[in-house]
Amino acid sequence: MKRVYNFSAGPSVLPESVLKQAQEELICYHDTGMSVMEMSHRSKDYEKIIGEAEELLRELMEIPSNYKVLFLQGGASSQFAMVPLNLFRGSKKADFVNTGMWSKKAIQEAKRYGEIRVVASSEDQTFNYIPELNSADFDKEADYFHITTNNTIYGTKFTDLPDTGDVPLVADMSSNILSEPYDVSKFGIIYAGAQKNMGPAGLTVVIIREDLIGHAMDITPTMFNYKIHAENDSMYNTPPTYSIYIAKLVFQWIKDQGGIKIIAQKNYEKANLLYQYLDQSALFKGTVVPKDRSLMNIPFVLPTEELNATFIKKAAERGFVNLKGHRSVGGMRASIYNAMPVEGVQALVDFMSEFEKEHTK
Ligand SMILES: *Cc1c(COP(=O)(O)O)cnc(C)c1O
Repeated sequence: MKRVYNFSAGPSVLPESVLKQAQEELICYHDTGMSVMEMSHRSKDYEKIIGEAEELLRELMEIPSNYKVLFLQGGASSQFAMVPLNLFRGSKKADFVNTGMWSKKAIQEAKRYGEIRVVASSEDQTFNYIPELNSADFDKEADYFHITTNNTIYGTKFTDLPDTGDVPLVADMSSNILSEPYDVSKFGIIYAGAQKNMGPAGLTVVIIREDLIGHAMDITPTMFNYKIHAENDSMYNTPPTYSIYIAKLVFQWIKDQGGIKIIAQKNYEKANLLYQYLDQSALFKGTVVPKDRSLMNIPFVLPTEELNATFIKKAAERGFVNLKGHRSVGGMRASIYNAMPVEGVQALVDFMSEFEKEHTK
């Protein structure tokens, strides 16, 4: 069967060359005579895989040496609890920007352990913009300041990072990590589930400044303590070995493409193709305020629910799948992560244009 153009928000498209390499190595990895899935995580061969994964990620993101990279499980959703459990070490207060459902879930969870203040929210407009932030409003005593850099469901992105001074900035970067350059030194913690831009589900990457490790609350479960994982090089227990292996192949693929700067150029090009079409279309409409538009997730609507449904159905018949928007926004959403080729976006735009002609006679 022919591969489709998969616009899924996550788990999402992976580079075809990565899948092919995984296929070639599936049964016998190099000269080990076994699959990576069957390997002890303590073996020399596996140590090399996880070591290279970390090295590649450090190189791609230019992660400073005073940051640890952790390969964990539990998804970004576990970080909603793990962050407060480890960072509430002083005032037990934290500032949050509420930019959507994932922010809300992070707020909900952190509230169990401390005092949460929402400094700004875009809930009044179904989260179709990033609220204005003024650092004078930030709590200087807060133990951390939390943002969601890219809002997967609504298609918004922080273009400017808030200046939080000495308060560690914590970012849920699940849906735009590795999509464009970020200065890691501006963050206390970056966390991301792998299944959007790094690999298969099951792996959660945490990049944490070393001084933030070792202050976990007494009630913190062992598996939720960053110190345990940092001291054991992500091998306190069995890590998600196969997901880490695939992520390593994806990191290598990004490097082979020329690194994050080149990937970012391709991402701008892809997003522009779609936004430019939406901006001139008489039928389709983007839902996000232009200045806050995401590079990764692009929601759009047609004038009626009926047309939305027709479009989604017809698109699927032509091999453009998973375009249905999140139930809280409706309409359509095209997720165009790193692994979506520009041809896929161009083909989608061509199809939308054809659909528009047919429905505006
Ligand atoms: C997908 C997503 C999550 C949830 O990730 P899980 O790994 O399923 O827990 C959290 N935050 C953002 C921004 C996401 O896109």
